[in-house]
Amino acid sequence: MGQKAAMVNTLRYGGLSSAEAQSRLLSHGQNALSSERAENALMILARQFKNIIIFMLFGAAGISYMLDEHVEFVIVLLIIVITVLIGFFEEYKASRDMEALKRLTPRTARVLRDSKETTIDAAFVVVDDIILLRRGEIVSADARLLSSEELLVDESALTGESNAVEKSIASPNERGRTVFSGAAVLAGEAVAKVQHIGHESEIGKIATMMSGIELQVTPLQRRLDRLGKQFSVIVFAICIGILLLGIARGSAFSASLLLAVSVAVAGIPESLPAVIGVALAIGTKRMAKQGAIIKRLPVVETLGTCTIICTDKTGTLTQNKMVIESIYTPDVTVQVTGEGFSPEGLFLRENETIDPKKHHAIQKMLEIGTLCNNSTLEKRGGEWCINGESTEGALVVLARKAGIDREDLHTRCPRVHEHPFDPTRKLMSSVHLVKKKPIVYAKGAPEMILLRCKQYLAGGGVHAMTTKMREEVTEQQRVYATQGMRVLALAYKEHQGKTYEIHRIESGLIFVGLVAMRDPPAPGVKEAIAQCEAAGIWTVMITGDNEITATAIAEDLGIYASGDRVVSGEDLDRMSDDAFAKIANEVAVFARMTPAHKLRIVKALQTAGNIVAMTGDGVNDAPALKKADIGVAMGKRGTEVAKEAADMVITDDHFATIAVAVREGRTIYANIRKFIYYMFAANFSEVLLILIATLLGVLPPLTPIMILFINLVTSDVPAMGLCFERPPEKVMRQRPRNPKEGVLNEYLFFKIGQVVPVIVLGTIVLFIWEYTVHKAPILQAQTVAFVTIIFFELFHAFNAKSWDETAFSRKTFTNPVLYAGYAVSILLTIAAVYVPAAQDLFGTYPLALSDWLVVLAVTFSIILFTEIQKTAINAELAEHESLSPFTHRKAK
Ligand code: ATP
Repeated sequence: MGQKAAMVNTLRYGGLSSAEAQSRLLSHGQNALSSERAENALMILARQFKNIIIFMLFGAAGISYMLDEHVEFVIVLLIIVITVLIGFFEEYKASRDMEALKRLTPRTARVLRDSKETTIDAAFVVVDDIILLRRGEIVSADARLLSSEELLVDESALTGESNAVEKSIASPNERGRTVFSGAAVLAGEAVAKVQHIGHESEIGKIATMMSGIELQVTPLQRRLDRLGKQFSVIVFAICIGILLLGIARGSAFSASLLLAVSVAVAGIPESLPAVIGVALAIGTKRMAKQGAIIKRLPVVETLGTCTIICTDKTGTLTQNKMVIESIYTPDVTVQVTGEGFSPEGLFLRENETIDPKKHHAIQKMLEIGTLCNNSTLEKRGGEWCINGESTEGALVVLARKAGIDREDLHTRCPRVHEHPFDPTRKLMSSVHLVKKKPIVYAKGAPEMILLRCKQYLAGGGVHAMTTKMREEVTEQQRVYATQGMRVLALAYKEHQGKTYEIHRIESGLIFVGLVAMRDPPAPGVKEAIAQCEAAGIWTVMITGDNEITATAIAEDLGIYASGDRVVSGEDLDRMSDDAFAKIANEVAVFARMTPAHKLRIVKALQTAGNIVAMTGDGVNDAPALKKADIGVAMGKRGTEVAKEAADMVITDDHFATIAVAVREGRTIYANIRKFIYYMFAANFSEVLLILIATLLGVLPPLTPIMILFINLVTSDVPAMGLCFERPPEKVMRQRPRNPKEGVLNEYLFFKIGQVVPVIVLGTIVLFIWEYTVHKAPILQAQTVAFVTIIFFELFHAFNAKSWDETAFSRKTFTNPVLYAGYAVSILLTIAAVYVPAAQDLFGTYPLALSDWLVVLAVTFSIILFTEIQKTAINAELAEHESLSPFTHRKAK
């Protein structure tokens, strides 16, 4: 009835004309909040300077200036400018990117324009627009109610309190008659006239107050920021050591100070935050391209730790293309042929075509299925599509196959009342006037319908329901369900009386028969589930279907194997939270669930030690989506409320896209680790090289300005390229990361600890050899050390590129950005060595070919060394992984 009442009112209002709306949009602007627009660029720029690392660099610049070392001074300033600019652009772009991501799932609004209902981007709503609201939608602007039907909204976005608030035109106060932008419609429907948009709306006022604090920082970014600072402090301490040692060994104070300052600049990982930001930005973009839109940045990190994906069945695992394959009545069982929603097919009884209209019970079923139905069939772009639910669509298609037209039947038998389908009752009923007599039609889950039936239709007559008949129907349902089909029972009765309370409508029904429909698995789902399993992520099905149907489909898809548990909604209701948490890890299928159960499932799985991804689309799914570590809303089927509550939106509604998102999430993390492996090894080597040379009492192998050149040109350029690495081959064969484990874990520390001595030793030995054995001038020896450490680092970037797999594979040349970085670094190094002006500046010496050959031979050794190390570590890891204590679910 709700629907009907609102529809009558809707047509009365007409709404603005499109031309008027357009002119208001131009003169008053969009219905958007500025915190949703980019943050003030100046504020972002200012923030870049609020960083201890930049302070330290300024200190270094100041010292260089005081020592009259103008070239150093300029280079350090250049490093500051580059660091600040990269940080600024990266952050500015990140906030733009997040905005662009938001725009990929725009909020929509239903409005009346030119007396017609249309759906528009909520940003285009203008003052005086007539907006329409129903369950699952988010209010797009502050608006005064014109009419409403049992409207309940959640204004927590505005008030912070998550209560259902009633709104009605009959409310005595103004607030009660107004709906506010950002509120979620929990129930009912309404028509309202827009009063305030954008900043003028209540939520706009709050957002204006808070604008500027929108930037999302992930826990990883915070951790790395801390790590960078700790590392800087260590470098700083070492530099003081270098300074004091230098003075003790009799070097001039100014020379020692300059060297220490340059080493400090080289050692400080100033590009760390920017690179992490770039890695996150590239990853989220790549995900968006593949249909996974990140709404909250921290979730990118959580994706890599996900251990379990709880997924809806219909439309996520399956195609949501229900096709009725069989009809059962107490008199006959009929098979139906046909593909998808195309209304062509035959009715077969024991392989003979029959005319369904000649069978009283089947004719009745087609009538019930068509009238107790809110979905329609239409041809779009040459393809048959359903407006509404697929389950109902299947019934419309069935009737069309028998030559019954939905619109025609609805016109002849107008609906006077409806009790809509709800997943808890699992049925729907409607009352229609058939030849002026009110008739009730009902359809729903067989057990729910049977409970409400007193009679059944057979042999053209109505009989009292018997236990035997119930058993026969239940057995038939079981047979269908074992074949993985969804079963609906259909019933009717003549209605006595003038009121339509649910208990009067949905009781004393006459059972007519069952329809069994199949919804084929979506392509790629089975493979994606297997892929997740190999990645240590279990898939769990949550469905409203019954246990047998759900288990059959789950088994087919590889979700269920014998020994796994299947838990029904009823089972769950009987279980205490503790008892449930104990068995939660063993459940593969949750059947006959209502959305309310989802929250309990998330909680229990989390208590059992899982990091849970949960899919959802309805209003009632929102709490579970919020509670889950990764809330995933469906882009097509999802309500605005579900999308708002989710961390990630899947645009194509397919399960396989979740697996893609997990892979990308893991890749981002892996790339950040590659970068850390590269950068920490390079920076540490530079610092240790000078420290050891100072300890040994030899002349510094690098001049301060060479150190700064290395920092500027070879450290950062290829490092950025590492963020563009494609997913490592085994990324989906590894276990989920332990969320408690830091990014610089023991393994990485150990790997860094192994390469640093190779770089330091190689460089210092070549330097000493050149200077003392070859008796080369110091400039030449320093130039050898200069190119040695540069090539060590460049080759090491190649190691880091495939940091735990061999560097020699098909993927070796897959990252053009990295190779472009190499090219830039190598060309600049050659220029620094051979261009006369650069020679004066950097104190370099034009090396002979023989020098180069020695340097390349020595530095290439780092690749060979790391290859051996990778093979050894991988063998050890394989053993370690099979014994990993971080197992979350018993192995199948
Ligand atoms: P899934 O979780 O697999 O996506 P679902 O959540 O769509 O499934 P529900 O919509 O809750 O499942 O359906 C539960 C049961 O209710 C179905 O098995 C079916 O018997 C019945 N049912 C589904 N849709 C309708 C409908 N439109 N009218 C009447 N009964 C329905």
